[in-house]
Amino acid sequence: MTESCLFCRIVRREIPAAIIWEDEHSLAFRDIDPKAPTHVLVIPKSHVASLNDADDALAIGRLSVAAAGIATSEGIAERGYRTVINTGRDAGQTVFHLHLHLLGGRHMSWPPG
Ligand code: AMP
Ligand code: ZN
Repeated sequence: MTESCLFCRIVRREIPAAIIWEDEHSLAFRDIDPKAPTHVLVIPKSHVASLNDADDALAIGRLSVAAAGIATSEGIAERGYRTVINTGRDAGQTVFHLHLHLLGGRHMSWPPG
């Protein structure tokens, strides 16, 4: 599963990505099809398919803390931003390696579609 997983392959540098930040546990790169001026994906380096399979609270928490730091370095922290984890079919999850979307740089409506 991790062999062919797109985001595991980005972690292993087998597929190019615009990586902007990483530490021992997590990796952040720009979404290939951005939905906002800033659209970054923050992922755990270890494969977890979705939030349904997540049991490591610290690993999940790290994604949010990393996103907040990236929001600051991207210059969107003050105006605001949105962090989203899509889980499963109804939410439109298309890549089954857990990822947190960091979106900002424009006004966003609520509720999401
Ligand atoms: P989701 O729909 O929540 O599963 O989000 C998957 C996201 O991954 C989408 O926003 C895609 O644009 C993005 N994506 C797919 N392939 C790549 C890639 N090779 N590099 C960066 N982002 C990607
Ligand atoms: Zn994976």
